[in-house]
Amino acid sequence: MGEESGMSNVIFFTDLEKFHDALAHFNIESFAGKKVPVKLHMGELKNKYFSKPEFVKHVIDELKMAHAEPYLFDTTVAYTGLRHSKTGYRKLAKMHGFTAKKIGCDVVIDDKGVPITVENREYEVAEHLVESTHIFALSHVKGHVATGMGGAIKNFGMGGVTKETKIRMHHGSRPIYQKDACTYCGACAEVCPFNALKVKENSWKQNMKSCFGCGVCIDACKSGALTYKDADFQYVLACATKACIQDKNVIYLNEIKRIARSCDCDPFAGPVICPDIGYLVSDDPVAIDKASLDLVNDVKKDVFEKENNISPLKQIKYGEEIGLGSPSYQLIEI
Ligand code: SF4
Ligand code: SF4
Repeated sequence: MGEESGMSNVIFFTDLEKFHDALAHFNIESFAGKKVPVKLHMGELKNKYFSKPEFVKHVIDELKMAHAEPYLFDTTVAYTGLRHSKTGYRKLAKMHGFTAKKIGCDVVIDDKGVPITVENREYEVAEHLVESTHIFALSHVKGHVATGMGGAIKNFGMGGVTKETKIRMHHGSRPIYQKDACTYCGACAEVCPFNALKVKENSWKQNMKSCFGCGVCIDACKSGALTYKDADFQYVLACATKACIQDKNVIYLNEIKRIARSCDCDPFAGPVICPDIGYLVSDDPVAIDKASLDLVNDVKKDVFEKENNISPLKQIKYGEEIGLGSPSYQLIEI
């Protein structure tokens, strides 16, 4: 088990019965009387792996027991589909069982943003997050095409900002091509998850319409022929997370179950690539994602990187670099 000692503590617990005890370590009393957005990805249409309403209700009940006023919260997405609009996302949330009647709290979808600058770039953070002093992060840990793994950092870095900021972050991670350095090895085209690149003898072509801006091709190019248009997607992701949570009281819960190859945004995210592990609770987004990754690696070494051709460690290293949190942790099983 990837256990290290350091500044942050992470509590590992094996079932929901222990959740109450874990919360007691993280100043849950300060949530009393506060309106608390519970940041949750409520799943794309046809996705089977997102966090389930029964589990989410359990978390909401715990927050209520602590006298907080929780509500489920998420933002709209940039791509087409139900989650593109507030009305569509609310409809989908209802289809997935996230209703006030079933969960016991309001479900709020909003895409109004407030600009916040981190490391010289501006991110439009959801107004609900900006206006809250206390936030609960409920993150499902799974694979991701652009980040290898999606956990707490991904939940905020992409899920906490407006669709305009989401688009800008992705576009900034598109490749800039330098012909002189290209050896036409084809490695970039091989790993592109969206078939946006075609490489033949002395020919390199990119279909911009298919390019998602994941940056995976840039990592795969060992000749230096590809560079980021603006910045590494995992770097801006860590920065956007910081924009969402800096100066807030945040408790993070990572659900490491139904660990699919791809994210909850993907209708065809399967197969499951690692057996269920459990739940982690922490007050540090970097520590909790590092602990989640270590636990998965203990069971299936480097499975996220192998499945998605990109290292999830980058977001953790960037998170440490910009002061988002610490990858050092002490794992306590309760
Ligand atoms: S990986 Fe780099 S060197 Fe190889 S074809 Fe792509 S751009 Fe050219
Ligand atoms: S950034 Fe991603 S989607 Fe775009 S060409 Fe590179 S690998 Fe393909």
